[in-house]
Amino acid sequence: MATTQEKPRPLIDDLTRPFWEAAREHRLVIQRCQDCRYFNHPPRPVCNACHSAALAFEPVSGRGTIYSFSVMYQPNVTGFGDELPYLNILVELEEQPQLFLVSNLPEAQREQVRIGGRVEVYFEDVDAELTLPKFRLVA
Ligand SMILES: [Zn+2]
Repeated sequence: MATTQEKPRPLIDDLTRPFWEAAREHRLVIQRCQDCRYFNHPPRPVCNACHSAALAFEPVSGRGTIYSFSVMYQPNVTGFGDELPYLNILVELEEQPQLFLVSNLPEAQREQVRIGGRVEVYFEDVDAELTLPKFRLVA
């Protein structure tokens, strides 16, 4: 009998720690260049637009739209086997074009999901150390 495997956990390092610490407090923050104001995600050592090292994390609305999605049937992602099939969604935050976060939705919502559909962030407390920002459909 197959055993249920744990889902992989994000790597939390010096670069990503502010993102995850804010998530623990149910706040969504994104690294932003203090020189040109460009949002960088995932966080980077220097700004992707202007190469400045003057970077800080700033709160964002948590609102966005579905830029793309796929239906996952393959059981090759550790820890997600019990949830198959499910939807992978690519969320474009409203603060900046192509500022993307990845999330997932239950396959039962397939009929409500469309490109350009609106979503908002919510926070899933996994355990005492980890909270995941996730997205849900809004009307
Ligand atoms: Zn910049």
